[in-house]
Amino acid sequence: MNSILLLEDNPDRITAFQQAISMLGPDYELKFWHDAPTMVAECERWFPEAALISLDHDLNPMPGASGDPGTGLDVAMFLAECCPVCPVLVHSSNVERAWSMHNELRFAKWAVERVGPIGDDWIGKSWLSKARELLGAQANTWPARIPADHAARLERAQLSLDGLSVGDGFGQCFFVDAEVASERIQQSEAPPSPWFYTDDTAMAVSIVRTLKRYGHIEPDALAGAFAREYARDPRRGYGGTAHGILQAIGQGTAWQTAAGRVFDGAGSCGNGGAMRAAPIGAYFVDDIPKVISEARASAAVTHAHPDGQTGAIAIALATAWFAQRRSESLRPGMEVIEFVLEHLPHTETYYRLKKALSLPLQLSPATAACVLGNGSQVIASDTVPFCLWCAARHPNDYVQALWATVSAFGDRDTTCAIVGGIVAVGVGRAGLPDDWLASREPLPRL
Ligand SMILES: [Mg+2]
Repeated sequence: MNSILLLEDNPDRITAFQQAISMLGPDYELKFWHDAPTMVAECERWFPEAALISLDHDLNPMPGASGDPGTGLDVAMFLAECCPVCPVLVHSSNVERAWSMHNELRFAKWAVERVGPIGDDWIGKSWLSKARELLGAQANTWPARIPADHAARLERAQLSLDGLSVGDGFGQCFFVDAEVASERIQQSEAPPSPWFYTDDTAMAVSIVRTLKRYGHIEPDALAGAFAREYARDPRRGYGGTAHGILQAIGQGTAWQTAAGRVFDGAGSCGNGGAMRAAPIGAYFVDDIPKVISEARASAAVTHAHPDGQTGAIAIALATAWFAQRRSESLRPGMEVIEFVLEHLPHTETYYRLKKALSLPLQLSPATAACVLGNGSQVIASDTVPFCLWCAARHPNDYVQALWATVSAFGDRDTTCAIVGGIVAVGVGRAGLPDDWLASREPLPRL
């Protein structure tokens, strides 16, 4: 079945659209919404079968409805955040806003045209004629590949995101006076709420959103999502290089160019690819080649250097390892690191991670960090080995894992985000303390 998705508040027009669409034959059916917020919340599920989208702009509240009906521009802006699905017709008489909708969609590479609601039976005449033309010209291009068990995968990815974001906010609270931080760590005294999340979480939200929408990492969509989140709130602790890359992507530079030209063309080997990668392992769990390729793709959007990508692959692999064993009672041990090494590309992070195998888990995290790094250089090879050692040391205790991680200081929001995102899928939702979850600033809607 081919669906035509319609935003229209006028009942007479909806009847006329129904009649016009019946002229297209039995393969077409109409889905309509009276208001923008409901269409934004629901229309995505029809994307796989959408043949045409037609949008009004000005909307009146329906009788008895509470809440703002929004406008067609709200829907156009939402669509512009997604990969193009099918042609769009804007059928509003509000010319100025119709062109705004047109521009939003055009800039996001959607095929879009306008039909003015002019004359008698314009829906049966000019709209239907234009609809036929567009339907013949462009088929559905929605790039989603949603696996049958998508819901269960997504639930694990969200659990990892919760672990990651709580860790991020927790760790960030320790960027305070060193004595205060040490005292809190010695007493295991959780910092006062709220725990604001940082760039680690903002970017991981975009990753989980992309997985939710497409069932895989769609690099152009992910790059756009990173840039939009950055523009919405650039002061979340992004690294210096990230500012330049994300601004450039937001201004229309291809991510390949923006990410490829930094550090004299070497690309970034920073820990930014690793800090957001855990939900990918949680989503792809049992498909190791996919864990590797999707983690690499997620990092490549901002990290062109091979080791920046290796960092992301290592974290996604470790998370997948934990997710496969979540029901078992995990014991401290090096198996997870051995598993990661077995599949990891041989770049800097690989060799540094090998050293972790020789560091007994009885050592203090601060001692291990002397050998492995603690993220203070904000590069993957200085961050990922220590994080995996901490996860191996506390595989069945989320809280102890984070106390151990933060005790080495360094890039503590990121090290805690990474360890939190991994260990959470091993311990399950019950392993995340309610009061810690409540302390974390609420996350944006996925
Ligand atoms: Mg951060």
